[in-house]
Amino acid sequence: VIVDAHAHIVPPGVEDAVRSGAWTGVIDLRDVDGREVFFVGGEARSPFPANLVSVERRISIMDSQGVDVQLVSSWVGSVVDDLPPEVAIPWAQAFNDALIDVSRASGDRLLALAQVPMQSSSAAVAELERVMADPHVVGVEIKTMIDGADLDDPLFEDFWAAAAKMRCLVLIHPDRALSGRLSDRHFMSNTVGNPAESTIAAVSLICGGVLERHPGLRICLVHGGGTLPYQIGRLDHAHRELHSKVGGLPELPSAYARRLYYDTVTHSPEMLRFLLEFVGADHVVLGSDYPFEMGESDPLGLLDSVQGLDPRDRMRIAGANVERLISQIARP
Ligand SMILES: [Zn+2]
Repeated sequence: VIVDAHAHIVPPGVEDAVRSGAWTGVIDLRDVDGREVFFVGGEARSPFPANLVSVERRISIMDSQGVDVQLVSSWVGSVVDDLPPEVAIPWAQAFNDALIDVSRASGDRLLALAQVPMQSSSAAVAELERVMADPHVVGVEIKTMIDGADLDDPLFEDFWAAAAKMRCLVLIHPDRALSGRLSDRHFMSNTVGNPAESTIAAVSLICGGVLERHPGLRICLVHGGGTLPYQIGRLDHAHRELHSKVGGLPELPSAYARRLYYDTVTHSPEMLRFLLEFVGADHVVLGSDYPFEMGESDPLGLLDSVQGLDPRDRMRIAGANVERLISQIARP
């Protein structure tokens, strides 16, 4: 089974509800200069991307890519973890119910990575437990930063404990890179900012001791892990020379980095090969970042262009790793 672990969706039921005005003031779609723009809490967020909704088009593209199953996660523009919990909780529940509906109706082609209202740890845990009771949900997607807080903030300790106990997948995804430090000049918010965000999230989890305290976590970084694999020697050096400054942990940062999972969305067979050598084929999963223009339109083609890839490793990356992880989930 070929599995694409990094693909985004807005379920048709969510689009219908937003268009009907059911979420006015929370999420709105408004016309701005002839483009449909997503508004979150009344603030213009991002143009509504094409092809996020249609399941028919998605399945036909999966067929053309040779992908059997997509793990579908929220488009991060639809995650509202900077709004008050009293609106974010019902939004996440409604989004997830529609996500489960579309997965259930897909004939085993789509499995869900739900969204959780991370601005309230107790609400995030409650929603995690609710959705993980459904076999169509295999985990969650969260952002690299939650309303200004890094992922090792004590606010999120209960969430990490719950996710580790269930061994569910946690896909960590950048949004609004570097808090606006990078404008869209040279498209750096994406090409530089997104990998930087993933790196900050990963180093927070490593040096903040989250991975040390919760060995059951099954965390996947997107875009090949940002710059983490390439810069891991620098972190290890800091650990040896300035131990307490980088967490004072018993193991080297690289040992924790090898507990993480990474997708293949690198746009470079050479960099993908480097990632595989660093982390091992058991910790790399196929990704497309569908339907975005910065995604990989031929994920298996990229994998097959890696020089000297062992055919057994290819099968692990293309699907067996995700199948193994899903088989290890302990549902509530
Ligand atoms: Zn993505």
